[in-house]
Amino acid sequence: MISRVKAAVAQLVGGTASSFSPGSCPESSLKFKYSRPAFLLLGPEEIERAADHSSRPVLLSGQDRRKRRKRLLPWDTGYAEVINAGKSILNEDQAAREIVCVEKGDRKNSTEAKTVKGDGRADKERDGLQFHYWALFDGHAGTDAAVMAAKLLHLHICEQLRGIIDVLRDGDVPPPICLTSNDGAARGNGARSPPHQGDWEPPTDSESRFLLEKEISHEYLVIGAIENAFRQMDQQIEREQSSRGMLGGCCALAVVYFLGKIYVANAGDSRAILIRNGETIPLSNEFTPESERQRLQYLGYLQPHLLGNEFTHLEFPRRIQHREIGRKMLFRDYSMTGWAYKTIEEDDLKFPLVYGEGKKARVMATIGVTRGLGDHNLKVHCSNIHIKPFLSCVPEVKVYDVTKHEHGVNDVIVLGTDGLWDVVSDREVADTVISVLSDCEPDDPNRFTLAAQDLVVRSRGTLREHGWWMSEDRLGSGDDISVFVIPLYGHT
Ligand code: MG
Repeated sequence: MISRVKAAVAQLVGGTASSFSPGSCPESSLKFKYSRPAFLLLGPEEIERAADHSSRPVLLSGQDRRKRRKRLLPWDTGYAEVINAGKSILNEDQAAREIVCVEKGDRKNSTEAKTVKGDGRADKERDGLQFHYWALFDGHAGTDAAVMAAKLLHLHICEQLRGIIDVLRDGDVPPPICLTSNDGAARGNGARSPPHQGDWEPPTDSESRFLLEKEISHEYLVIGAIENAFRQMDQQIEREQSSRGMLGGCCALAVVYFLGKIYVANAGDSRAILIRNGETIPLSNEFTPESERQRLQYLGYLQPHLLGNEFTHLEFPRRIQHREIGRKMLFRDYSMTGWAYKTIEEDDLKFPLVYGEGKKARVMATIGVTRGLGDHNLKVHCSNIHIKPFLSCVPEVKVYDVTKHEHGVNDVIVLGTDGLWDVVSDREVADTVISVLSDCEPDDPNRFTLAAQDLVVRSRGTLREHGWWMSEDRLGSGDDISVFVIPLYGHT
């Protein structure tokens, strides 16, 4: 087992090496070829130059190089990215920025979800309900899952919202518990109305306590739509992975601005923060073996066959030697946050399900993130033990009601992959952004791109003799780095 774990270290997922190479999955068989985000408007030669690990050029939004003119993203959103320092051949991060119109109609009669050109304001009422969408995907063990999710996740969100569009249009009216096949009939009936008037009879007193209906807000319908969209996306990747041999997975961080609220959905270790009036407010949590230890251990406890007789769901502060059987050792089970002593048994010699600290923590000595899309074929190295059952594709969705706050010209949301957050703190990011924005005229539409650029340049550092350094004693990030800076003033 130990040799197996050692071998696996060489192929760490979410670690320092990638098993992907362009030849491992012929591009001709892939639905979506590797590229950089479409909104960067790069040609093939520029994409190749961007993959130079020795110079690590920073790519920016807002530049249409082919037409030699500025082409800013909607809301003047700033975006910047840089490739890693050599841990994988290609940039495994991907990004997407879309405005999507949610139109009524079943899938058979409607075209695919409609993305809107420009800022979309003119078509807003005529075409249906729109949402604005920004997303970062941090791939591992290849680029396939991240590329696919960047192309499709917003369409899955659209499809899920399409199913509840009539309910959402009813403003303050609570959603009906059931939608009939003719959902228009249910529209506006409210939560208390039965779906089929003719079949329904009022409950007797003894029955009524079982028929209480929960009040469900529209906000939770949107959250459910986003959660379901992530599930649908994951299932689509699974189909591709089984039929086309696609590899790997990706963390996904998506921001949806819809009906006056910002929904931040995170599955993985990317992060979103709000900078408002100079303060930093987290908009997401990271999902790692450490942060989800108890969920993972509980699953291992309930379904020990998933551990393949190779791993123990218990956590110990270090590996246990055979000669220590019978002695007392500190341990943690799924129900514990603190530590207690137990007598070591033979079973405790198995490798811990969750092992390591910080960025080196792994599930089954293999993967460093516990939520994301893909990884359906991921197994413990040289074994038949699947890791996917321990991973979740469901994001945590946080909601920020922008209508309840006044926003200034320097108030923004910053999204970044872990390449950014591994080397700079929330406070440092906020100070950098505020400094750049304050140096620009408030009406300069490029200021958010400049802020994103500054974040990426700082976290990458400069190349010196022995690598990339932010300062004399601080290493820069060797990972792919991708950053959105989303202004709130004047848009929400
Ligand atoms: Mg990363």
